[in-house]
Amino acid sequence: MIKFLDLQKINLLHQVEIEEKLLSVFRSGWYLLGKEVANFEGELKRYVGSNHAIGVANGLDALRLIFRAYIELGIMKKGDEVIVPANTYIASLLALSDNGLVPILVEPNINNYNIDISKIESHITSKTKAILIVHLYGRVVFSEELIAIAKRNNLKIVEDNAQAIGATWQGIKSGNLGDAAGFSFYPGKNLGALGDAGAVSCKDEELAIAIRAIANYGSTKKYVNVFQGLNSRLDEIQAVVLTVKLKYIDEANDRRRTIAKRYCDEIQNELIVLPIPPLKPQEHVWHLFVIRNKNRNNLQNYLKNIGVETLIHYPIPPHKQHAYEEMNNLSFPITELIHDEVLSLPISPVMTNDEVSKVITALNNYKV
Ligand SMILES: *Cc1c(COP(=O)(O)O)cnc(C)c1O
Repeated sequence: MIKFLDLQKINLLHQVEIEEKLLSVFRSGWYLLGKEVANFEGELKRYVGSNHAIGVANGLDALRLIFRAYIELGIMKKGDEVIVPANTYIASLLALSDNGLVPILVEPNINNYNIDISKIESHITSKTKAILIVHLYGRVVFSEELIAIAKRNNLKIVEDNAQAIGATWQGIKSGNLGDAAGFSFYPGKNLGALGDAGAVSCKDEELAIAIRAIANYGSTKKYVNVFQGLNSRLDEIQAVVLTVKLKYIDEANDRRRTIAKRYCDEIQNELIVLPIPPLKPQEHVWHLFVIRNKNRNNLQNYLKNIGVETLIHYPIPPHKQHAYEEMNNLSFPITELIHDEVLSLPISPVMTNDEVSKVITALNNYKV
């Protein structure tokens, strides 16, 4: 059985280093707001190239906190609109609606599954305050045109970088392209913790200070509360694991690129639509390798029966979820087609060449 993602194998790659650090946190008696989180924030900031990095409890909170801070600072207010791709994981929208902001959905480009930048401007109104871009599946979405749209309309660019740590656009890392970015270190992400964890990176110091305070009960000084905050902190245990794994992220992403290249070159079956890789390989870190097929459930069953585990990212688009009932009657045909046809193949830094070959053979032998 070829697993979709062998997390145990991924983490055991660094067993000695991680276990030693975990033991040292355990024995230290200090578990929150300590030197390990500060150290990880420094390393992440250096890696991403951002001015600030703040460890938080998870990826959704990272995004929620960015928008919450913009509201606290008076830059946005409840009822304002934020452009977001229709084709995304629901967390991108939840971060907005949780703050009373209105998600305005924009269709993706079918060639890269990311927001179609050319369709953004027609959705901008006097209430629009930001564009939340999502580097979906690990592929950067960014362009001079996007920068120009944001400038012309005085909009913040916020990145949902949950899936794309390590990707770069014109030498700039994702997470340092816009004004602020949310990272997820959910165990299955390219940089995964041993539980929930996340981070924010941003350019502006005032924003960073507000986010750090809001994530800690709205407090900058113990028992002095500037904001009605929440509790969303990264802990020392997760921080040491992430510090170790961050050292190897480029290596891990390169291995993903090698596997993705083999899939793209060697899967040859007219029933299967392969992803179109970016011209510049560094723009993609292949968090997911997503193919399309008209009878996706049938293909998934076929693969399961010959021992290849796959997943669907994602089966139901946000605007068709009960959670967003008010959007259920909206129509996003490209998004809906993607959700109906996508299937994610196994890809990870610990997959062997032999396993990759088996997946390729299985797909090449598939017929209806
Ligand atoms: C994983 C993910 C999130 C949320 O991250 P959590 O750490 O699970 O809260 C947000 N957006 C996208 C695109 C994701 O893939």
